[in-house]
Amino acid sequence: MIIARTVKRALDSIKKVKRNSCLTGLVPTMGAFHKGHLSLIEKARKECDFLAVSIFVNPKQFAPGEDYEAYPRSFSRDRKLLLERGVDLLFCPPVRQMYARDFSTYVNEFVLSRNLCGLSRPGHFQGVCTVVAKLFNVLSPDIAYFGAKDYQQALIIKRMTRDLNFPVKIKVLPIVREKSGLALSSRNDYLSGKTREGAGIIYSALDFAKDVISKGNRDVPEITSLTEKFIKKRRPGVKIDYIKFVDPVTLEDIPEIKGKTLMALAVFIDDVRLIDNLMIGT
Ligand code: AMP
Repeated sequence: MIIARTVKRALDSIKKVKRNSCLTGLVPTMGAFHKGHLSLIEKARKECDFLAVSIFVNPKQFAPGEDYEAYPRSFSRDRKLLLERGVDLLFCPPVRQMYARDFSTYVNEFVLSRNLCGLSRPGHFQGVCTVVAKLFNVLSPDIAYFGAKDYQQALIIKRMTRDLNFPVKIKVLPIVREKSGLALSSRNDYLSGKTREGAGIIYSALDFAKDVISKGNRDVPEITSLTEKFIKKRRPGVKIDYIKFVDPVTLEDIPEIKGKTLMALAVFIDDVRLIDNLMIGT
């Protein structure tokens, strides 16, 4: 496995690969791997001749006061997991390689970024789009893999790819969950054993709302309020950031469940912000 810590090393390695017209894949990550990451990597490994994985905790997608410094990092373990899976190239640049001291060019998506996490985390998707655009330029993948756990992110990246004509196919793979239903996330590492068990409430809430809808309730304000009560009653300590029902294509709020709907949820558990989503009415 090539370990490229500089942009130049990555560009040089990819240039050689492209000469042989290999199908190249990229899985962009921030490391601290769990089975969600590994599902993307394993799928990509099957589909691509040459597979690059990036590990970069991107400071531009964290707002001041968020968990950039505390974000879990486990490089040796991650590297081993990639080696075991036959990854060809690990791109793990230091911050200065990606962002010059006077870096001043950003990529913004203006419509899909307005709702959900875009409302709670201003500037977050600018950071995400900027880093993904840079990774596409450095690693020139034919296919890039993202997880449905970050549904809004994947949709925005698809839009950016289309709008800016990146010659990359975006594939979005299903959410990997724990037995409790909790979506795997590097941030779950922040939770102590008991709290982690309790975090199953996130998926239970999604499941509860799905059940309410399947029984015929179509009124979004009502379903939202019932879901809030469901959470508050079982886990009073959980702070709800948002519970939303949106059109899965436009990400606009919908007042009434009619067809395919994305239910998305963000909560704070012990000050740890966790997100999840479920497609309803497929
Ligand atoms: P991250 O390291 O958190 O930036 O995640 C890297 C990629 O893994 C993103 O495309 C995520 O959507 C995806 N991912 C994270 N958690 C999961 C999960 N539980 N199931 C599937 N994909 C995931």
